[in-house]
Amino acid sequence: MDAPLEIAQLGNDILRRKAQSVERIDDPKIQSAIDNLIATARLKNGVGIAAPQVSRSYRLFIVASRPNERYPDAPEMEPTAMLNPGILSHGEERVKGWEGCLSVPGFRGLVPRYERIEVEYWDRQGRHNVRELSGFIARIFQHELDHLNGILFIDRAESPQDLVSEEDYWNLHH
Ligand code: ZN
Repeated sequence: MDAPLEIAQLGNDILRRKAQSVERIDDPKIQSAIDNLIATARLKNGVGIAAPQVSRSYRLFIVASRPNERYPDAPEMEPTAMLNPGILSHGEERVKGWEGCLSVPGFRGLVPRYERIEVEYWDRQGRHNVRELSGFIARIFQHELDHLNGILFIDRAESPQDLVSEEDYWNLHH
């Protein structure tokens, strides 16, 4: 297994930068970054992780939803690398749901996201994908896409009262 990478924490400038497009998906540096991101997400019980979180400022993230300690109700899916991703269209409806972030440890926030989105991305083999996402997976996609634009979930909370400590979150919800 590839060594897990150190996670940039809130306050680190790299989390606030706009990441650059991946020019060559078959670049061994990009391919090994993908392997490391997948391993790191699994080890840290993330359901997604974006390259800037491990100090690689590329438009690349992993969506790796599965039930784990931090997200017991997450749906199960194969970890998927998404490169140069974008939202093509979205439904009207926005839904508030709880999010956390490996770069903002100790907090959870209630964040409004589109319930349904149509997205595009390139996969690690360089193929162009267009997919419709909904619910929690759509939420992960929007959270990770924000990372590529220097935005954190705490920026998206509608009120400071929608941010709570991890401890209070578990007391309230489980
Ligand atoms: Zn995050």
